[in-house]
Amino acid sequence: MQGLEDLYREIILDHYKNPRNFGTLEVPPAHQADGYNPLCGDEISIYVNYDGETITEIKNAGQGCSISRSSASLMTNAVKGKTIAEARETIKTFKRLLLLEEDQRNSEPMEIDLRKLGELAALQGVSKFPARIKCATLAWNTFTQIIDELEQNSSTSEG
Ligand code: ZN
Repeated sequence: MQGLEDLYREIILDHYKNPRNFGTLEVPPAHQADGYNPLCGDEISIYVNYDGETITEIKNAGQGCSISRSSASLMTNAVKGKTIAEARETIKTFKRLLLLEEDQRNSEPMEIDLRKLGELAALQGVSKFPARIKCATLAWNTFTQIIDELEQNSSTSEG
């Protein structure tokens, strides 16, 4: 499947050279989280605008290797416009793609619909390079910090 790997490499390079949703948002009203991967030196800041229902805007800033930068770009594309629950599903699928999360139903082989993942599938090859996994997951873990906070805020403000 050399052709597919070439395509994936092109997608990663494209997102590295032309990052989507690159920049910052004003905090507040935006929510911000920062992440750092000491193994590689990757730095990232994620900014999210949330209207109580969907992630209306998301930006990423920072510096790092091509894997961390392209993963941040792909992640922002993947979760923009989604609800927190939908975003969590996407995170879960992404971690399965990198073989980080076992399918809980052990009886069945792990199944991922690569077509449903779209360009995110390009990061699948990272699973073969354990040293780069932290580069690929940095943006996702940083984004998770924000949605964890958003959920905590909404549950405490009710009562
Ligand atoms: Zn890196």
